[in-house]
Amino acid sequence: MSPAFFMSQPCSNHAADCCHKNDIQIPAADLLNWRTNQRPGESRMQLVILDRDGVINEDSDTYIKSVDEFIPLPGSLAAIARLNQAGYTIAVATNQSGISRGLFDLNTLDAMHDKLRRLLANEGGVIDKIVFCPHAPDNGCNCRKPLPGLMQQIADHYQIPLTDVPVIGDSLRDLQAARAVGAQPILVKTGKGLRTLAAAKELTDAPVYANLAAAVDALIYAQTATQRAST
Ligand SMILES: [Mg+2]
Ligand SMILES: [Zn+2]
Repeated sequence: MSPAFFMSQPCSNHAADCCHKNDIQIPAADLLNWRTNQRPGESRMQLVILDRDGVINEDSDTYIKSVDEFIPLPGSLAAIARLNQAGYTIAVATNQSGISRGLFDLNTLDAMHDKLRRLLANEGGVIDKIVFCPHAPDNGCNCRKPLPGLMQQIADHYQIPLTDVPVIGDSLRDLQAARAVGAQPILVKTGKGLRTLAAAKELTDAPVYANLAAAVDALIYAQTATQRAST
């Protein structure tokens, strides 16, 4: 299928002139690079792991410290709901060193995630699991991305390997943590994504999408194509 054909399609949630019509310009090569973690004839759980700040919600160089500062990016919650509808379970893995830095506490983090779950529920979506690293870079933990501890927590929780599981992030450390466990790193240009792209000297083979909505449209498209090919 040519990329031009795909570009002419409306996004899966909106009309042809929808708000992110420009976000579904997916190069054919990127589509070919998608590996769904569903093998033909296999009924493995379909999992997607998301970074939080800069992917789901607006990021800030001065940290997201309060519930008011937690503001979803346009289209991100609807995109998560589309993943749910396509059969995906969603886990979030997020570095939150602001806790160790004393900028906010665990109660505030919980309140941010309550807000996230409430707004997401309004869109018909669910995040199944959130894991976070509360440590500062010099705490010597094993969970702060790019280290794979958060990925391993998710693997342990679901008792599945993360091989080829899509991990969508806006920072190099997200992609590095994904690669460390054999998952599939995907970069979005929101949040720190454009900076990451400009500085990237490694993982340059990772697919890049304008935002979560575009990445999700590509993922669901690839999943549908794979299912069609295997039936
Ligand atoms: Mg981020
Ligand atoms: Zn940690």
